[in-house]
Parts: sequence; structure tokens; C-alpha cells
Amino acid sequence: MGIVRISGPHAREIAQHILGIIPVSRRAQLCTFRDAHGAPIDNGIALYFPAPHSFTGEDVVELQGHGGPLVMDRLVRRVIELGGRCARPGEFSERAFLNNKLDLAQAEAIADLIASGSEQAARAALRSLRGEFSARIHALVEKVIALRSYIEAALDFPEEDVDFLADSGVMVRLDELRHALATVLNGARQGALLSEGMTVVVAGKPNAGKSSLLNCLAGHEAAIVAEIPGTTRDVLHEHINIDGLPLHIIDTAGLREGGDPVEQEGIRRAWKELARADTVLLVTENQEALDEQERAIVKQLPPGVPLTIVHNKIDLTARPDRSGSEPALQDAPAEVWLSAKTGAGLDLLRAHLKQRAGYQDTAEDICSARRRHLDALHRAQDAILNGQRQLQGSRAAELLAEELRQAQNALSEITGEFSSEDLLGRIFSSFCIGK
Ligand code: GDP
Repeated sequence: MGIVRISGPHAREIAQHILGIIPVSRRAQLCTFRDAHGAPIDNGIALYFPAPHSFTGEDVVELQGHGGPLVMDRLVRRVIELGGRCARPGEFSERAFLNNKLDLAQAEAIADLIASGSEQAARAALRSLRGEFSARIHALVEKVIALRSYIEAALDFPEEDVDFLADSGVMVRLDELRHALATVLNGARQGALLSEGMTVVVAGKPNAGKSSLLNCLAGHEAAIVAEIPGTTRDVLHEHINIDGLPLHIIDTAGLREGGDPVEQEGIRRAWKELARADTVLLVTENQEALDEQERAIVKQLPPGVPLTIVHNKIDLTARPDRSGSEPALQDAPAEVWLSAKTGAGLDLLRAHLKQRAGYQDTAEDICSARRRHLDALHRAQDAILNGQRQLQGSRAAELLAEELRQAQNALSEITGEFSSEDLLGRIFSSFCIGK
């Protein structure tokens, strides 16, 4: 099946030309889709959603045909002949946002739902799409507004002697606000992890058992996310998930020089990604210390990325599976002993990776979120903290009011009440076409 979706003030008129009728609102109707000469293109279902009760908030007509590239292409060309044009990626969602059908976080959740690589991620995206995340943000904004109004009123009418500085209530409310924000931020972090996952670099000498470990981690076939829409799967990357936490695996074995330009480009990008990786797993057969060659590999890895040494093949040495790191050495890498062959110790590695990501798979009400949201929440948090310091230190209520204004703006960026065209362009252009 293929669907052509037409949105805008001319949708009705276009439908009239193609169908010979304007379909009854919100009722599925079997119609013949016809070309400019009245010749049939296809038979199918037509649906008409008059503005403003449609996805985009505009008049929307949907033509559901049998599909097939040739027939769909004829139908699309007919719509274009009648004044339509192809939608940009995300344009339907963008219009829905501009017509107040969705807020920005909800629109982003559509893309996250489509791209979700695990059941947990899909559920979280749906919660955000239904507005649960936005509701949490609105609740915070309400709190900021209430506090702002109180402080600004006090500033405007000093003669009324509302000496709120002496009123410790402001301090308490600021503490409450920070606490509420921290809770939302924590949930959003989980949400962002679910949709964006963590990047794991796998390194080690040939034959250490890297591929075996990856296969083992991925578990049964179903755990392997065959393809994440919008990203290309190439030799260097693998996507798996552990208990809903997506892992983007970069296999350093693929990072050899040479190859054709496309491969070289892939390698260049992988190196860039490597520098931003969340963790490096160095797989080794050695049960004690790393050998010289392995120490050389470690030296090549980007500095600052946390390292975990995976001592593989414990089944050959009858060592117990365990994990740990030398507590005496702060910077010591974490270590895990396991067998990719028997699966012993694998749970320790899974738990270790989840802990490193800060992922709690027990949390029930996670909403999907993005780095953009985390960034805005952090800015709001900083502003509130600064304001609190101003009040405590120099009793500067004006500065506190200004910081609260900043916090409100940062929060409003999440739902899009306060946004730039630039930001909208960036968000919607990463959507799929037709969404
Ligand atoms: P890679 O080159 O690092 O990707 O290593 P592979 O995953 O291809 O494994 C190299 C060899 O070691 C293969 O023959 C595996 O069957 C074997 N191997 C991997 N993990 C284990 C393990 O835990 N125990 C034992 N006994 N053999 C393993």
C-alpha cells in the first residue's frame, strides 16, 4: 500500500480534481484516482480531514492506493500538476508544530518513535509524543513563573514593604524548584540514553575474542537492531541493545588504513566518533596484566574515554568470573573477567555497561528526551543556582529575577515556545520525508 498525503489550503481542490468529488469529512471512501485526461491511475481509499482537526492543522487529504513505485509516482505527479509540491523532511510535523497541534518535544518524539531501536525506547517516545514529557516541563515553567511574579511584584512595589528577602519562603521555593528540576533532568537523562544510547569502542589484538564477545552480548538474533533508520550500517558499526539500552559499537578492527574513498570516509568518521565514545572495551586473553602490544593499543585510544579491560576466555584458565578495579588507583580501568564462549561473566559486563551509562532499566515512566533537552535543563538549573547565590550573597533580587527569566526561556526552548528558526530547521530537517 502507498499513501499520498496532501496538506494545505489547496488540498480540497486537488482532491476534487483527482477524485471528482470532495470526500466526506473523516470518512473512508472508495474512489478512483484519475489523471488529467480522466484516465484512472488507481483505485483506493480517500480520506479528508478539514482544518483545523487534522494532523497538521490544515486541510489534509490522504489517498491510499495499492502502492508500487510507478503508480505512486503517477499519483504524486498528478498532485504536483495540480499545484502541490513534495514535502521537505519533517514538514508535516513542522506544520503541526507551527499550527499548535504539537509542541516541539512532541514533534521530536515522532522522529524518536520511528527511530526507536528497542521496545523500551518506543514506549518512552510514545509517552513523550502524548505530551507527558512536555507536561513535566510545563509544571516546571509554572513554578518558575509563579516565583518570578512574586519577586517582580516585590521589586515593582518596594513601598508596599513586601520584604521578601527577609522572607525565607523564597529560598525554600527556590530549593523546591531546583529539586523538581533535578528530578525531571534525571528522568530526561534516562530518556536520552534510551533514544541515543552509548557508544562503545571495542579494541584488542586479533583473536582476543572481540567478535565472539559482540555476538554474545547481542544475544539472540532479535537483540540485533538490523538497521536504525536514518543511519547507515557499515562495517565499522554494530547496534545492539542490553535491556533496552542501545549500544553503538565501533569495532576498531575495521579502522585500518587504505580502502576506497567511501571506506576511508567511514574510517575518518569512526575516528571522530571514537574521540566522543562513552567507553572503550579492551578485550584480552591475558588474565593478569596487558602485554606490550595491548598497552600500545591503549595508547592509541582517545585520552579521557573510560577504559574497561575485558579478560576473555576464563574457561581456559578456570578463573572465576568477576569484575572489579583497583580501589587504590583512581584512574585504574575497570576490569571484567568472562568467557564469550560459555557466557560466564557476561552479566557482569552488561551490568557494568549499564552502570557506566547511568542507565536504570527499572524506571517505569521514562519519556524519550534528547541531548538538546538535557542541555536546556542544565542551563535552567545553572540559572536557578546562580539566582539563588545572588540572593544569598548580595541580596540582589533584580539579578535573581533575571536568572529566573533565563531559566524560563531555557525551559521554553524544550517545548518550542521560545525557539529560533535555525533550531527548527535543524530539528525538522533530520526527520524522514513524509513525516
Ligand atoms: P577476534 O579476532 O578478536 O574478533 O576474535 P574471535 O571472536 O574471532 O575469536 C577468536 C577465537 O577465539 C575463535 O576461535 C573463538 O572461538 C575463540 N574464543 C573467543 N572467545 C572465547 C572464549 O571465551 N573461550 C574460548 N575457549 N575461546 C574463545
